[in-house]
Amino acid sequence: MNSNSSRMLNRKKRKARQALFLAVASFCLLALLFFVFQDALPVYSYNVFGNQNGQGNEPVDGSAPAAAGKGLRPPVIPEDWEFTIISTGDIMMHSPQIKAGWQSESKSYDFSFMFERIAPLLRQGDLVIGNLETPLAGESNRGFTGYPMFNAPEILARNLKDAGFDVVSTANNHSLDRGFQGLCTTLDNLDAAELLYTGTFRSPEESRILKLETAGVRIALIAATYGTNGLTLAKDKGFAINYINAGQLLADISQARQEGAQYVIVMLHWGVEYQTKPNKEQTELAQTLLKGGADLILGNHPHVLQRGEAIHLAELYAQTEKQSSGQAAADFPSLVYKASGKDQMKFVMYSQGNFVSNQEGMDRLSSILLKLTLGVDGATGEPYFKNAEYIPIYTQRRDRQGFSRHQVWPLELALAELAGEKPPFGGEDKSNVPKAWDYIIKSQPALSLLTLEDTPVWSELTEKPVP
Ligand SMILES: [Zn+2]
Repeated sequence: MNSNSSRMLNRKKRKARQALFLAVASFCLLALLFFVFQDALPVYSYNVFGNQNGQGNEPVDGSAPAAAGKGLRPPVIPEDWEFTIISTGDIMMHSPQIKAGWQSESKSYDFSFMFERIAPLLRQGDLVIGNLETPLAGESNRGFTGYPMFNAPEILARNLKDAGFDVVSTANNHSLDRGFQGLCTTLDNLDAAELLYTGTFRSPEESRILKLETAGVRIALIAATYGTNGLTLAKDKGFAINYINAGQLLADISQARQEGAQYVIVMLHWGVEYQTKPNKEQTELAQTLLKGGADLILGNHPHVLQRGEAIHLAELYAQTEKQSSGQAAADFPSLVYKASGKDQMKFVMYSQGNFVSNQEGMDRLSSILLKLTLGVDGATGEPYFKNAEYIPIYTQRRDRQGFSRHQVWPLELALAELAGEKPPFGGEDKSNVPKAWDYIIKSQPALSLLTLEDTPVWSELTEKPVP
C-alpha cells in the first residue's frame, strides 16, 4: 500500500469516525432536549390545539415500512403512558390571611409560606388545578379585604404559580366582588403570573374553553358558577361570567370535542355550603354533563368535602334510561357523546373543601389533594381513567404562639410533627389535626388513600425545619 492510498484510507476512517460521532452526539442531544422539555413544559397553552382538525395524536402504526415495500415487520404500537392531574379546593383569602401575608421588612405581601409544605406534592402533578375564590383587583379598587367582599393582593397569583398550580377557575360566587373592572384586572394579574384560568372573561372574543396540552393529550377546561351573590353584570357584559346552564355547558363540551379535545374537564362552583353530601341538582347535572362528553367534573363551593366517585358511562346510560327523567341531555340528543373502550370510566368530585382559608372548624380546615392518574392508549393516543387517589391535607390557622399562620400541610406530615418533641401546633389546630384523619377518610369511601411516608417525596417534605 503506498503512502497516498494509506492517507486516503486514514481520511476515510476519520470521516467515518466523525460521521459516527456526529450521529451519536445528535442522538444524545435530541434525547436530552426531549427529556428537558418534557419536564420543563408539562403544560403549555396557546388556547388553540396544535392541530385544529383534531388528528394531532395519530398512532405510530408502523405502516410506513410496508408502503415502502418491506412489509413484513409487525406494526410498532407504542406502550401506554400515564399522566396525573392534581386538583384542590377553594383558595380563600380571608382578612387574617391577608394580614399574615404582610412582610413588614419589605413592605410588601408574600403568601408563599402558606404553600411551602404542600408545594412538593403539588409539583408532582402534570396538571394542577384550583379554584381562586377572590378577585386580585389591585389595592386601588376599594383596598384589600376578606369576607364578605374579597380582594387579595395580586402577588397571590405568582405565589400559587410558584407553588405548582397551572390552572385556576375564576368562576365562583365572588367573581364580581370588585365589579367587572375587578374581574378584568384579576385576569390581567393572572396573565402576568402566567397562571392559566377560565370561567370569567374580559371580552366576548375570549373563549369559554381553555385549551392546553399535557403529556401529549389535548385537554379542554370549562368553569362555571351557580351565581355571584346577587351581584350582576351590566346588560352588555353578559359574556364576562360563565353561569351554570346545562344547555350552554353541553354546547361548550361538544364544541371542545369538535375542536379536538381528547379530555374535557368541567369545574363547577355549585352545591350548598357546609353540606357533606351532594344534592340532587349536583348529581343530575354531573350525569348530564358526563353523558354529554365531559370526562372529569371538579366541584367546589361547599367549603367541606363531598365524595368523589368514578362513574361508568354504560352503567350510567342503563341507569338513567330506566329513570328517563327528561334531563337536559335528552333535549340535546346530538350532543350525547359516545365513549368507547377504555374511555368509559369518568370521574366526579362533588366538593373538594377549602384548600386554604381562615374558616373555623376541623371540617372546613381539612381537605384533600385529589390525584387522578390517567393512562394514554399507545395505539390511539386517547386518554383514559386509571385511578383516583387522595392525600389528606389540613390548613393550620395559627402558630404555637397564636398568631395567624394559614399554612397548608399534608396531614400525614402534620401528624408526624404533632408526635414530635416540639409540635408547631397550638390551640384548635392541636386538637383538630388528630381528628381530621378519620374525618377525611370517611368522606371518601370510593377513593384510595395515598400515604407519603416511605415514598421519595417524604424526605423532601420532612427536610424543612419547623419555624
Ligand atoms: Zn363559593
